[in-house]
Amino acid sequence: MKLYNTLSKRKEEFVPLEEGKVRMYVCGPTVYNFIHIGNARPMIVFDTVRRYLEYKGYDVNFVSNFTDVDDKIIKKAIEEGVSSEEISKRYIAECKKDMEGMNVKPATTHPLATQEIGGMVEMIRTLIEKGYAYEKNGTVYFRTRRFEDYGKLSHKNLDDLRSGERSLLVTGEDEKEDPLDFVLWKPKKEGEPSWESPWSDGRPGWHIECSEMSKKYLGEQIDIHAGGEDLVFPHHENEIAQSEAANGKEFAKYWMHNAFLNIDNRKMSKSLGNFRTVREISEQYDLQVLRFFMLSAHYRSPLNFSADLMEASKSGLERIVNAADHLKFLMGNAKTEEMTGEEQEAYAKTQEYVKAFENAMEDDFNTADAAAAVFDLVKYTNTTVSADSSKEYLQKLFDRLVSLTDVLGLIVDRKEEMLDAEIEKLIEERQAARKAKDFARADAIRDELLEKGIILKDTREGVQWKRA
Ligand SMILES: [Zn+2]
Repeated sequence: MKLYNTLSKRKEEFVPLEEGKVRMYVCGPTVYNFIHIGNARPMIVFDTVRRYLEYKGYDVNFVSNFTDVDDKIIKKAIEEGVSSEEISKRYIAECKKDMEGMNVKPATTHPLATQEIGGMVEMIRTLIEKGYAYEKNGTVYFRTRRFEDYGKLSHKNLDDLRSGERSLLVTGEDEKEDPLDFVLWKPKKEGEPSWESPWSDGRPGWHIECSEMSKKYLGEQIDIHAGGEDLVFPHHENEIAQSEAANGKEFAKYWMHNAFLNIDNRKMSKSLGNFRTVREISEQYDLQVLRFFMLSAHYRSPLNFSADLMEASKSGLERIVNAADHLKFLMGNAKTEEMTGEEQEAYAKTQEYVKAFENAMEDDFNTADAAAAVFDLVKYTNTTVSADSSKEYLQKLFDRLVSLTDVLGLIVDRKEEMLDAEIEKLIEERQAARKAKDFARADAIRDELLEKGIILKDTREGVQWKRA
């Protein structure tokens, strides 16, 4: 399996640090509002990477943080007259709802920055002890000059950066030794959330959060660190400097970055008024469509969001779901059980599409080509099945289709949710059938409910039911 490593600027063979295991960290969102579709791209892309690694049999420890202390959160809290905690809790919950809609699996751990301050203070202390950081008036800075490899991820010329940054010095940070030095700890301002530290009551800088949380949940060395390309510099460059200086080891072996998302060929921004949240999209489309759209381009190519492309993704997804539905329908009405010799041969041919799918994914997660292989399988399926197909053949085709779409995180086997009222109605009908001693009908209703995940229990007080 090959993946493009931002560090070496080329595709490399993936070799995990520990056989059969993958330690992966993806920078998560700052939670001060509903997530926008630019936030959704890395979520979907790296969830797909994770799913493919799991499909390959790797045990993936996937960590993605929520940044729940930040200037933007504090600003929003002041605007609403509530605590920062209330804001971050609310938008973490909303973010998780959107993730569920996009079928993004929950991380193995979703650490919160505010719960990990102690570890961050320890890491900063280590950096000071090793000479990689210094304190000035309660603020602690990272001494970038001291870290020789600074710039190795972003491949930037540091002297150019220094001269460029000199004019961009933030007020109050003119005490820095070098324009590229960045904040590890800053003292609180009036009304801000703060924690105790040896330097001042204050809060950590953004970059140190990820270095600490990655170390705590994945160890000092990890396989893959990922995020949007806007994070390469300075965020990921600074994470490398902090982690490698503190731990004395290479931090992450592979660095993966997804490209930007544009809207109607323009950069998404609040000022252009083309800012779209995932929640807004969900009012118009099933978020599965958004997911499929995000995977329609290679993750390192810029992606353009437009109504036309969303419509194309919608109809593409429908083709796949319709094929799955058709297989289910035929299975329910199949006249024979076992595969014929001809069907066995026909099924063996589908291996070709699996191979094409895997080859695409192994080439730096080319989801566009992988989706094309799924469409080829769908086409093949549609042309080789009929009302005369055996149940086994249909089932095997169905399972094969699901195994591939599941890697892309597309749900094709939608269980129809039954409404409470429908369930109650069927239970009443069953009671009536029993009274009339029509036990066959009563049993049929019980089975029908069971198939839809509803379990009945006959008690002295009457029939109780629950969802499986
Ligand atoms: Zn990060």
